[in-house]
Amino acid sequence: MRDWRQKNPERSREATRRWRKNNPEKVKAGDTAWYAANKEKKQAYGRKQRASYRTRFPEKVVDSKLRSMYGVTLEQYNRMLKKQKNRCAICHCKETALRRGGKVRRLSIDHCHDTGIVRGLLCSRCNTAIGLFRHKDAIIKAAAEYVTKPPFRLQGKP
Ligand SMILES: [Zn+2]
Repeated sequence: MRDWRQKNPERSREATRRWRKNNPEKVKAGDTAWYAANKEKKQAYGRKQRASYRTRFPEKVVDSKLRSMYGVTLEQYNRMLKKQKNRCAICHCKETALRRGGKVRRLSIDHCHDTGIVRGLLCSRCNTAIGLFRHKDAIIKAAAEYVTKPPFRLQGKP
């Protein structure tokens, strides 16, 4: 049988295809048993494949992440980055915060949580600040107003 299969690869594949089509229950049971027996191997293979994809196509991974999280492509992100000269749209500093691996983080995408409109790129500090002000224009304006025109001007300790 094995010899016949080796000598007739085309017909062998055809026979397998026919058998699988005529025995869907056995195929399903066999696949399930195979998966159970090889689960860890298969998962390890999947992890390896994904890691390899990430190293071979890092830009595709970033593009896909940006599109799913913000609806923005990597190309759009890079255009904004160029226009902002790699600097935060609020404080005009370059990003200094580090990623887990030690590399400098990318500027964060700031977007309106209600409309999804992307406003610009911010350093992690300014992005956090916007978040602490609950992303609300009114509160942010009030904070700026408060700093420039405080309700008191008592002399305290600097
Ligand atoms: Zn900033």
